[in-house]
Amino acid sequence: MSTSHSDTIYLRLEGPLQAWGDNSKFIIRRTAEAPTKSGVLGLICCAMGLSRQAARERLPELNRLRMGVRIDRPGQRWWDYHTVGAKYGVLSAEGKIKATASTGEHEMLVSRREYLCDASFLVALQGDAQLVGEVRKALEKPVWPVFLGRKSCPPSAPLIDAADRRGQPIHDDLLAALQAVPWRPRLEQVDGDRPSDSLTCIIEWRASKLEPSAPAEAEVWYDAPVSFDPPVHQARLVVRATVPATPGDATQRPTPPLPRPRADYTDSQYRAVRERRIKADNHLCVFCKSPGPRMTTQHITYRHSPGGETVNDLRSLCGLCHDAVTMIEYGLNMGLDRIDPQEPRWRQRIIDKRAEIIRFRSLETRRRFLSAEEVQ
Ligand SMILES: [Zn+2]
Repeated sequence: MSTSHSDTIYLRLEGPLQAWGDNSKFIIRRTAEAPTKSGVLGLICCAMGLSRQAARERLPELNRLRMGVRIDRPGQRWWDYHTVGAKYGVLSAEGKIKATASTGEHEMLVSRREYLCDASFLVALQGDAQLVGEVRKALEKPVWPVFLGRKSCPPSAPLIDAADRRGQPIHDDLLAALQAVPWRPRLEQVDGDRPSDSLTCIIEWRASKLEPSAPAEAEVWYDAPVSFDPPVHQARLVVRATVPATPGDATQRPTPPLPRPRADYTDSQYRAVRERRIKADNHLCVFCKSPGPRMTTQHITYRHSPGGETVNDLRSLCGLCHDAVTMIEYGLNMGLDRIDPQEPRWRQRIIDKRAEIIRFRSLETRRRFLSAEEVQ
């Protein structure tokens, strides 16, 4: 067989969530630590607009592309609570919709799904230049939306790495190809990121004249897709290697942390200011004029927090009004300046939220914190 001209394409797989399902079945769906071949080829088939049936014909050819992954940022593992079939039911083996024995309602499955948060992978695919060219073209203008392993995981960066556009020199060796791309560390480390001096690579092993049999440390990954419908996978061998982490100039800016307004409720000076505010408001809620119970204060600004608050930064509120104001604030994702309950523009919203709380609080909760107008 003649060896045709070979090429390498570099992909950047990066997003808030990724999920590279390996051998999980049914209810517990785990993710592998790095993109699987089946996930990456599935993504390419999506970009090419191949149906599952059409993909079956192209998969033998696509599987011949040798895949190497460099773990630039491993991300953090996270489990999602996920339900299947709520309200419309799930089918039993006999094809009937399952119903619960006690109430006759549709049965629902709780499925735990694992994700990698904030991970970043460099993937190199190497093989026939014509096929690589076709893949590149498809990824530049995908026919269908592409996703990082699971449909709920959109990519947050172009799928073709910047290194690919710069035209890296051709490396026959996949590891050398991965090493040639500068690593993009973040300018500042954020939680969970460790400064690295080396990066792990997962390289697909292929027999060659130099290395006719696999090394003892090779791992078997059952992720080479034969068919997506039904899912059938073949084994492939991968080996791990590390390459030095050589930062390039293309560093990534970290996502700035959201300002988290805080008060120090244990600070005696703050507590004294708070008492002065409540006294100035005659121990009455500034919104509903009720004397409590649970008289508390609302920060209308956190600009001087923690520790520098003055009486002007606070307003006295009863427990119910304070809960209402806090719930409105949650929904608005406010910064340092918060709701001033005496401003007319908030009036109707606070009234509505109070009514909502009164309606929905359980009788038991109400018994504990009765506000004046809740007492019948
Ligand atoms: Zn009140």
